[in-house]
Amino acid sequence: MAYVSPKTALVIGSRGQDGALISKALLSKNYQVIGLAKERKGPSETQIQLGIEKDIIEIQADITDFENINYLISKYLPDEIYNLAAQSSVGKSFFSPKETIESIVNGTTNILEVTKQLDYKGRIFFAGSSEVFGETLKPATINHSQCPKSPYAIAKQTSFNLVKFYREVYGLQCVTGVLFNHESPYRSNEFVTQKIILGAIKCSNNKSHKINLGNIDIARDWGWAEEYMEAIQLINNSKIIKDQIICTGKLTSLKKFIEITFNKLDLNWQDHIKSNKKLFRDTDILISYGNPKQLKMDLKWEAKIKIEEMIEKLIQSKV
Ligand code: NDP
Repeated sequence: MAYVSPKTALVIGSRGQDGALISKALLSKNYQVIGLAKERKGPSETQIQLGIEKDIIEIQADITDFENINYLISKYLPDEIYNLAAQSSVGKSFFSPKETIESIVNGTTNILEVTKQLDYKGRIFFAGSSEVFGETLKPATINHSQCPKSPYAIAKQTSFNLVKFYREVYGLQCVTGVLFNHESPYRSNEFVTQKIILGAIKCSNNKSHKINLGNIDIARDWGWAEEYMEAIQLINNSKIIKDQIICTGKLTSLKKFIEITFNKLDLNWQDHIKSNKKLFRDTDILISYGNPKQLKMDLKWEAKIKIEEMIEKLIQSKV
């Protein structure tokens, strides 16, 4: 039987939640995985927990550095590129707009420009965000109107447009997957879902513990990160080269998320949660959910893990 050399994937943002999860999935399919990390201080905790720290070749580079990106892509000429790097917190983007915009817009431009100059024939996936839509009063399709409400969302909107432009004008095989919120045990503690899970576990050990949150009447479309990484690989390997929405299509309020979490720990959430008006933002998006039908039709992918199971998994990973 003829020897087939393994495919190479470049995962940009390899130390983050999605970067580490997709690296694991790709390694399990015998890919050679080259990771790009902004800072390299030994393997990340997530990479160690996933048992992939010895299998990934990780290069230290900032995505905003054109020369480094050029060197990296020219050297490895990967079959597939996954750009998952970003300053990814909406909240932080209000305090650090420059870092946020540079990591997303300059990062995207660098990858597109390098691959254009190299006449790169491989596939390139960019992580987009549902934040570009602003409020979605009905489930968002890819053509939903865009109304970004944060520096993060503005940057993701620009990245989305750049990817479309380079695909249509220069013929690059690049797409954006517009991701709705997705969770795992590896999500950073600054995100509200982790704050709730960790806070609720603390409350079960300390009955007087209180958790200070912003607006708990917002509602989101939450999915399971590992499943979303499967969708991303399908998108980046499909003959259909187009932007896609990655979501569950199910809307859950943050209050409901809190209630499910506290019920699972036999706690009454009203005893512990304080919704603090000082933490509300005028630009808070109240409702955000997507329409999963296109991805199901094109690639037969649909999210399987429902909100109850997701919360159970998140709790079990932390107790
Ligand atoms: P994380 O914040 O966990 O990971 C992002 C990674 O990008 C981090 O490892 C970070 O490194 C790296 N990074 C940031 N700036 C730079 C830079 N200038 N150069 C190189 N690397 C950089 O995010 P997720 O894994 O959760 O998300 C992956 C992608 O998906 C992001 O683009 C995010 O915006 C997008 N997304 C995620 C959603 C979610 O629910 N998780 C929802 C919608 C979109 P460091 O840690 O050193 O800063």
